[in-house]
Order: sequence, then C-alpha cells, then structure tokens
Amino acid sequence: MTTAAIIVAAGRGTRAGGEIPKQWQQLGDRTVAAHAMKAFADHPLIDKLILVLHPDDVETNLWPSDPAADIVRGGETRRASVLAGLEAAEGHADIVLIHDAARPLISPTIIDDVLAALDTHDGAAPAIAVTDTLWHGANGQVTGMQNRDGLYRAQTPQGFHLAPLLASHRANTADATDDVAVARAAGLDVAIVTGDEENIKITMPGDLARAEKMMGYQMDVRCGNGYDVHRFGPGDHVWLCGVQVPHDRALQGHSDADVGIHAVTDAIYGALGLGDIGQHFPPSDPQWKGAASHIFLEHAVSLAAENGYRISNADCTLVCEYPKIGPHQPAMKSAMARIMGLEATRISVKATTSERLGFTGRGEGIAALATVTLVKP
Ligand code: MG
Repeated sequence: MTTAAIIVAAGRGTRAGGEIPKQWQQLGDRTVAAHAMKAFADHPLIDKLILVLHPDDVETNLWPSDPAADIVRGGETRRASVLAGLEAAEGHADIVLIHDAARPLISPTIIDDVLAALDTHDGAAPAIAVTDTLWHGANGQVTGMQNRDGLYRAQTPQGFHLAPLLASHRANTADATDDVAVARAAGLDVAIVTGDEENIKITMPGDLARAEKMMGYQMDVRCGNGYDVHRFGPGDHVWLCGVQVPHDRALQGHSDADVGIHAVTDAIYGALGLGDIGQHFPPSDPQWKGAASHIFLEHAVSLAAENGYRISNADCTLVCEYPKIGPHQPAMKSAMARIMGLEATRISVKATTSERLGFTGRGEGIAALATVTLVKP
C-alpha cells in the first residue's frame, strides 16, 4: 500500500488578514502550509507528498522546497484542484489523504486514525460532535432552535482509497465543499474518526495567534556580541572577514589575525553561552599557529547547529583608518556567507574610522565588533 498526502493550497483566501493567502502566512518558524506539509512528511505511514498550488503561485518562492513534494497546478474550484491532485497521485498511490493547507496543527494521531479506518471503509475523515446549542437567527434575534444531535464539524485530512474516489470525482462535476460530499454522492461509505479541537483551519483574523498559542510557540532568540583587536606589524596584506586585502602592513596574531571573523565567532560563542575563541582554540596550542580563521567560525556555526540554533543574522563593524574597506565589502559579505552557510542578505560587514583618535586612529591596529542573532525554532 502506498499512501500519498495531497495538500490543497490553491485557495486565495485572505479573510485571515494579511496581503497574501492564509496558507502562505508565517506561523512561527515556517508558513501555515509548510507546517501542514511537515506533519505529513514526518509521519511514517505517508510515502509521498503532493502540493496543489494556485497557478499564480507555482513560479513563486511562497511554497517550501523542504519537505519535498510533487507540485501540481490547481484549478478554478477546490474540487478541480483536488481532482488535479488525485490525477497526479494516480498510478503512484493506493490511498490518499486530502488535507487543507490552512490546517497547520494536524496531529499524527488523526492521521493514524484516518488510515486505520480505511482498512474497513471507502473513506474516513475527522470530525467533532457539535456540543454548543445551535440557534437559528435573523436580524440579531433568535428565531428558533436547531437540534444538534448527530451534527458534526468536519475537518481534514479526508482519507480514501484512490481509485473509487477518483472515479467519483470524474463522474460528478458539480462543485462540492469537500471530498466526503463527492464520495457520498457516488455511494461510498465514509467513517467518522475523532477530530481534534486544535486542528483548526486558519480562516479569520486571530486564528494565526490562536494557532501560535496552541503550538506553545516560543521561539528562543539569542543575541551575542564579540569584540577583537589585532595590532599591525610588518607584511603586505591583511585578512579581514575572510578576504585577503593588500596593505603595507599585516595584522599580527597567533592565527591569520582576521579580526572580523574573530569578532563574529566570539559573538556566536557568546550567544550560546559557550565561552570564547581563546577557550576553544587556545593560543598556547601550536596547531592553531597561522590557522585560517574560517576554521574558528565554522566551529562556532556548527556548535550553534548542534545546540539547535540557526543563525538569523550577523553584523560586523571594522574600525580602522586603512586599509579602505569599502571596495572589499561585497567580497567580505559573500566570504562570510559562504563560511557560515547563510544567504549573503543575512550578513552585514560595515566599516568606520575612529576620526584618527585612539589606537585605530593612529593606525596601530584594527578593531572589530560583531553582533549575531541565533534562533531556535
Ligand atoms: Mg583575535
């Protein structure tokens, strides 16, 4: 048995507020749709992800490349979009779970329960029995009561054996609000499994904040600073932020004396609360003599990753009269980005003089300051 999850993300709904459709809005560390996709990708019984997109979204970077999914162009209606997803699954899956991309909090338990029910039913879907009293109303007044016995609020994923559902869709071209309606119109039986109050559909303003609360979303954000100084000595170049810059002197130090990299490295150690560069790479240890400083920075970056953090940004300021930094700034940004495995847009390298004041002003050395932000999703 091969099981595919079809994530339907083709809607244009912006009722939840914001300028982009709700499934592409940010919820913690990823978009609403990316949470839904990850829930299925992480589930051991799901073999394949199919993401149905609005045609306008296909050529954008709205949808995540991780987790990997087959991308399918949706249609004019929800039903047409689902049909496109089912046709993409045909020949590749026996079971399909069709899920709204706007339900980011789908639990593994519901996925388990829907799949288990498919052993004995054509279809299965989660729902919650209505417990609130239901009224009819008009013009702001109650006009009658509605018996709630036997009423359910439907959720997704709605699971089916692919072949009969695909036949139902092809035979029935009327629009339907969900796949259970299509399946039942074709005479298929659909089991109800217990839904989950947290499996909300992001629809109205405030739903994103509710979802964040339910996820217990508390992003751990850390900030660290670093400061370093190296003095000038004889030589014909300096290393600054991973770039060799011609100069009539060199910076002295145990390593290659790249003061910019040292400051950024210390800022990462600082944010982690894990010491400093001298502690991890003691100057007394001869193996670091003349070492290229990217080794230190790579160590700090991997230590951050080992501790569950990713680097959100790094900002480094070099303080010197000479050499002039401006012409080398773009190369420094890309060198730092390469070493740190980040996009260059997350790195800043700036420079200032100290107005000829102090040791940097007198050209005795170069100072560097750095700030980094680490994020644990
Ligand atoms: Mg240093």
